[in-house]
Amino acid sequence: MTQHKDKAAGTVTQQETPAYLWHAGGLVEWDKATTHITNIAWPSISMVFEGIRGYWSPRRQEVYLFHLEAHLKRLWQSMKLMRMTSSYSKEELARAIMEVVKANGYKGDVYISPYAYFREGVPGYIGVKDMPSEVLITCRPAPSNLGTDLVAHCCISSWTRIADNVMPPRAKAIANYQNSRLVSTEATLNGYDFGIILNGQGKVSEAAYACIFIVRDGVAITPPHSAGILESITRATGIELLRDMGVPVEERDVDRTELYIADEAFLCGTSVELRPVPSVDRYVLGDGAVGPVTRQLQERFHQAVRGEDPRYARWLTPVYEKARVG
Ligand SMILES: *Cc1c(COP(=O)(O)O)cnc(C)c1O
Repeated sequence: MTQHKDKAAGTVTQQETPAYLWHAGGLVEWDKATTHITNIAWPSISMVFEGIRGYWSPRRQEVYLFHLEAHLKRLWQSMKLMRMTSSYSKEELARAIMEVVKANGYKGDVYISPYAYFREGVPGYIGVKDMPSEVLITCRPAPSNLGTDLVAHCCISSWTRIADNVMPPRAKAIANYQNSRLVSTEATLNGYDFGIILNGQGKVSEAAYACIFIVRDGVAITPPHSAGILESITRATGIELLRDMGVPVEERDVDRTELYIADEAFLCGTSVELRPVPSVDRYVLGDGAVGPVTRQLQERFHQAVRGEDPRYARWLTPVYEKARVG
């Protein structure tokens, strides 16, 4: 167990370690999954990863993995950008992810993290060619915040989002998180929950580790993939749900000052799910309460992820009984 301060939630939570994780082709007991101390230095700089949520359905006694295929597809894209090839197929990793949840006997909401990295800890500045990669999958209980009143008061960070020709923002890479960490730390020190990052063009990119939507006059607006964002799966899900709600969605550049005058805004990402933004730089958005579009979207999203809306059953992979939604 490690003490972990969830800044956004404002609470100190116990992060439970799983009994088993998956490494190098099979399940390993937590205590046995060790590595030499010298290995913590270089392998991490080329590491790419995914964050996947599993949602518990009390009614069906089932854990539904949300958008498993899309996450594996993105893991492959991240590996490709790092010129890394996988020793496993997508199907093998999908099975491994299910195995980890099952082996730990989780009956509740979970957060699963697969990591892919170069197995040999050679210095990261040396060119890579045909280097073997390895995969680690870990998992922990992570109760959803959907249906709670958690919000994110945001600031505009003084840091700029990494550019596509610096370190590819569309790779979900550990190294990219130096940018996120600087942004988050600055935001916390200044009394905000989240930092929003502008790109080199001065347009809104994303939040430290989540994408952003604003709502103006009934239209939902989100920065495009070319704004230096990570190609967020929750963002794509949000766009689909909003359109199904009859809310027009625009993917276009957003100015900093547009945030200040938006009627509503919310962050989206696997870890933050859909989190309302009541203020940016202390400018209150709308009347400061959770807006109607955000509220309805959160409700629809919550129904979908728990398997309560058959229209979105294709987004879910059941871990235990293979009970399909519908
Ligand atoms: C993972 C991540 C997101 C959110 O992406 P999802 O696919 O929705 O989880 C946003 N920004 C960054 C930098 C990320 O790493």
